[in-house]
This record gives sequence, structure tokens and C-alpha cells, in this order.
Amino acid sequence: MKQTSWNAKSREDHLQKARSKEFDIIIIGGGITGAGIAREAALRNLSFCLLEKNDFAFGTSSRSSKLFHGGMRYLSSFEFGLVRESTTERNWLMHHLPNLVRPLGFLYCAYEKGKDNALEIIAAIKLYDALSNIMTQYKNYRSSRIFKPEFVEEFEPAITQYDPDLGHMKMAGFYYDTNCDDSRVTLEIIKESLEKSNFESIATNYTKVVDYIKNSQGKVNGVLVNDVLGDESFEVKGKVVVAAGGIWTDELLKNAGYNKEKIYPTKGVHIVVPNERLGNRNAFGIRSFDDGRFFFVLRRGKVSVIGTTDTAYYPESKDLDTPWCKKEDCDYLLNSVNRFFPHAKLTYDDIIGTYAGIRPLIKSEDAKSESDVSRSHEIFESDDGIVAIAGGKSTTHRLMAEELVFYLIEKGYLPKLTNTDHQAKGFSMQPFNVGITRNDFDNLLKEKNLDNISWPDQLEYLHQQFGKQGITILENIKNNPESGLPLLKGYPHCKAEIDFILEYENAPTIMDILCRRTEAQWMIWHYKQAELAEKVAQIASEYYSWSDERKKLEISTYMEYIKNTIWF
Ligand SMILES: Cc1cc2nc3c(=O)[nH]c(=O)nc-3n(C[C@H](O)[C@H](O)[C@H](O)COP(=O)(O)OP(=O)(O)OC[C@H]3O[C@@H](n4cnc5c(N)ncnc54)[C@H](O)[C@@H]3O)c2cc1C
Repeated sequence: MKQTSWNAKSREDHLQKARSKEFDIIIIGGGITGAGIAREAALRNLSFCLLEKNDFAFGTSSRSSKLFHGGMRYLSSFEFGLVRESTTERNWLMHHLPNLVRPLGFLYCAYEKGKDNALEIIAAIKLYDALSNIMTQYKNYRSSRIFKPEFVEEFEPAITQYDPDLGHMKMAGFYYDTNCDDSRVTLEIIKESLEKSNFESIATNYTKVVDYIKNSQGKVNGVLVNDVLGDESFEVKGKVVVAAGGIWTDELLKNAGYNKEKIYPTKGVHIVVPNERLGNRNAFGIRSFDDGRFFFVLRRGKVSVIGTTDTAYYPESKDLDTPWCKKEDCDYLLNSVNRFFPHAKLTYDDIIGTYAGIRPLIKSEDAKSESDVSRSHEIFESDDGIVAIAGGKSTTHRLMAEELVFYLIEKGYLPKLTNTDHQAKGFSMQPFNVGITRNDFDNLLKEKNLDNISWPDQLEYLHQQFGKQGITILENIKNNPESGLPLLKGYPHCKAEIDFILEYENAPTIMDILCRRTEAQWMIWHYKQAELAEKVAQIASEYYSWSDERKKLEISTYMEYIKNTIWF
């Protein structure tokens, strides 16, 4: 696969390009929504300038449950349209980014005295199958199944068959959704959009939009940007400015004189424990013993991810940049998990890491609780012509972005599309360059004599995270075998991977590398993070020629972050 460098060393060139031309669309926000808009634009030969105030996927798009899913639970609120849209998008992503978007089996168990009865579960998973598969180009991985308790005992021995409050297990429904690395999907979409534009379009991190520029009719046609790393300001001009600012949407629009509050931010946390401690082989949907709320026990290789919570954020904090998993969030999750997996007896000592995110939900008057607030999205605009898009889910980012581009054309912000293919809905349901199945990856390895230079866990990791680009990393390991050695015993990360990230994935800080280019922040034990940070900072230091002082600052900033994720 042809690889084009895209890195922080060329930052000045990127900024210069941003300053010097007029773009079709200025996109504020480098989360999955902004990334999706960039891709829709690039595929239709529209130029874009995507501006992100922190790192790409810094916001909610690196802190989700990391599922591309139809949202089985939305069936209970009769949101069939949302489920249909989401399963269609999920199926497309699974087919075209198979390394990053992978099938994951889910079990829902019915107990004698539980809230969900057997008939409801059977009806829900069969309806889910139908909405996923009927009259769609791409199908789900496999159909759902119904299990008897005796089968569940064999299939998933760790889940309880009996609980004093729930009674005996009656049955379980089993179906497939997918898991992913949300921030890497966001990044791959941005990279691919840049490639499609032959790097004529721009995506920059650490560039904060601080104000708007208006034309003589009072309509916004540009933004004032603060270069967060260089501390200077510059203007970017465009035909239209789109705010894809997630939870920061109100703040962004307030600067443009739009004073209606649209966003209702709710916090969700995840805690990560060794899979061998919990013993789940698949994922589970379970209900909290405290309030009956629904949450997941997920499986990601050697770890289990438990979450999420759903609590109003503003009563806790007004700082949208740094949500944390608190003791009470953790207790809420552990209480119920320890009832459903009674042999685990999880304590704080079992927690590898945590992360917390904030949902950019659209305010709704009717919702009785946080979980009732709709997950659908909305497009709206300020009087001076800033078009905002917010709400929704990562799973439906393509659909949201497509709708937005058509909206911009319909409202006259962009000229009509002349190419009939570009006018078609679903035009962007195309393959991704980096996407590759494990089989095809293994065949490529054989073809290139790369199949013997790494160990199984590292190969699996490089395939999953980097897809076809994993081949480039392995070629580098072949040329320099030492660069393939693990940076941390028992983990697949190596120097060749970090070198690749620095050269091709625009990561100016080690926070970017450890929190968003990799999943190291929450996948690796908190007490091993200092050792990893030191090694990664050394590699980055050589690449960027950092001073000792800068290197120390990078490590301490990251370790401060880790400290905040682990309060115990
Ligand atoms: C706990 C939790 C679990 C979830 N689980 C799932 C799931 O499993 N599946 C699913 O489909 N969805 C899930 N979601 C929802 C999903 O993660 C979000 O809908 C999605 O990530 C929102 O993306 P976004 O791009 O709109 O927002 P964000 O990712 O927050 O992106 C907005 C970006 O705008 C940037 N920005 C803000 N102000 C400025 C400025 N002035 N200048 C430049 N940039 C700016 C921010 O830094 C940020 O990076 C979950 C959400 C949460 C919180």
C-alpha cells in the first residue's frame, strides 16, 4: 500500500496551506462526525479544511463503548428507524474495515424474576436480525440464536445461573454486533479523506477555532484559528463553516451569537479488568441491580471492558475537556458485575485502567432519565450561517455526514453536484484502502516473506489496528529486527509501530500516541504506564529532537492523566 507521510514535522506546511486558499468546507472538530464530513467531501471532489483544537478524536470519539452497533435497546423505545440505519452502517463498516470493525457475540440472559422476560428477548433479537439483514446489501456476521440455560452453562460458565433476587436463568439470546477502536477509525477516515484529496485538503490538530469572519452581508465565510502549539493566530476562508464540535457545540455557537442550548451532556465511564478474572468469553448486556439500567460487559482480547454509566454531567463539572471515572461510577458497575459473575469478586485491585466520555446528546423535554434521551442527530444553523451537526452515534457518522453535505447543497452553501454518482445516497459506502481481512493479510505476509518475523500476538495486533499498513510496519521490522521487540513485556507495542505513527499519523505528543493512536492508556496496567511512557517519549524525542525538558514534560503530562484515571 502506498504510504504518504503526514506528520507534525510538516505542521508549518499544513498551516500555510490552510492560510493560503479558500476551501469548500471548513470543518470545526476532528471527532468521527467531522472526519465523516471530510470523507463525504473528499469523495465528491470538494475541498475541506478540518480544524481540531486538541488531537483528532480527543473528544467523545475516543471514549465510547467502541461498538459499531444497531442499538438493540432502542427497540424497546420503538426507534426502529434508528436501529435499521445503525445496523446498515455497522454491516457496511464490518465488510470494508474488517480489521478494525470486528464481530462480537452478545448474550442477554432472562431470569425468572428479571426485568426482561424470555419472550421479549426472543422477539427483540429476531426483530434485530430482520432489521439487520432484510433488503440490505451487506449482512450481519451471523444470525442470532436462542440458548437454553444448560447450554449457557457450557458456553459461558462464568455468568451466574442463579441469583437470590433474579431466580434461575430461563434462557439467553445470542446475537452479533461489532467492536472497534473508535479513535483509530476516526483517524483512518481523516487519513483516507486527505489521500482522496491528494493532500490538497487539510486536517490539522491543535488548531482551535476562536472566532468567525463574516462577509459584507454578515454571513460567516471563515474562521480565526489559534495555533495551540505555536501560539499564533491566522484566518482560514471557506464557502461554508460547519461545526462538528460534539459536546462543545453550544460553546462554538455561542461565539457566533446563537444562544439556544442544544446539547445535554451525559457522562459514561468504562473500567477495564483482565479477562481471565471475569471469565466472559463473549459480551453481555446486563441490568444494574441498583437502578435496572442496562450496561455491557465487553470482551477485547485479554481484557474485559465494563460500561457504561449515564449521568448528567453538568452537576458534576463544567469542564468538558477532562471527564473522569469516579469512585461512585466504578462502584456502580462493580456491584452488579460481581453479582452476575459471582466467582470474579472484582475489587479496585483488578482495574487495569478506566476512561470516561461525555455524550453530545440533543436536549429533549420528554426524556425521563439520561438513558431516555434520544441518540438521534440534528442539523441546525445560526443566523449568520454556521451549520452545526450534533447528536447521533459513532455508528451512524457516515449517514450523518452524508445528510449534512446534501443539506449544504440544498441550502445553497455549496454548488449543485454535477456528477450523478455523487448525488446518490450511499455513494460513500465504499471500501477503505486500509481495510483487510486476516486471511488476506496472512496471504500478503507470505507473498512478501514477512510471515516469520513477528510473534502471533503482535501480528494479530498489527493486523487489527493498522490493516494493510501493518505490512509497512512489518517490512520495517524485517529491515531492523530490534524495532520489533516489545517495548513492554507481554504487550505487542514496539518501536517500529511508534515510528510509523510519528511519520504517518500526525501525533505531536505522547498523549496522542498512547491515548488515541494506540489503546495503551486503558489496555495496559496503570502501574506499567510510566515505563511505557519513558520508552515512547524517548522514540518521539529522537524523531522530533526534543530537549530533555520537553521529554520530561511529555512524560509528566501523560502520567498526570493516568493518575486521574486511577483514583485508588
Ligand atoms: C460513554 C459513551 C459510550 C458511547 N458508546 C458508543 C458506541 O458504543 N457506539 C456508538 O456508535 N456511539 C457511542 N457513543 C456516542 C459516540 O461516541 C459519539 O456520538 C461520537 O463520538 C460523537 O462524535 P463527534 O465527532 O460528534 O464529537 P467529538 O468526538 O467530541 O468531536 C468533537 C471535536 O470537536 C473539537 N472541538 C471543539 N471545539 C473546537 C474548537 N473551538 N476548535 C476546533 N475543534 C474543536 C473537540 O476537541 C472534539 O475533538 C458513546 C458515547 C459515550 C460518551
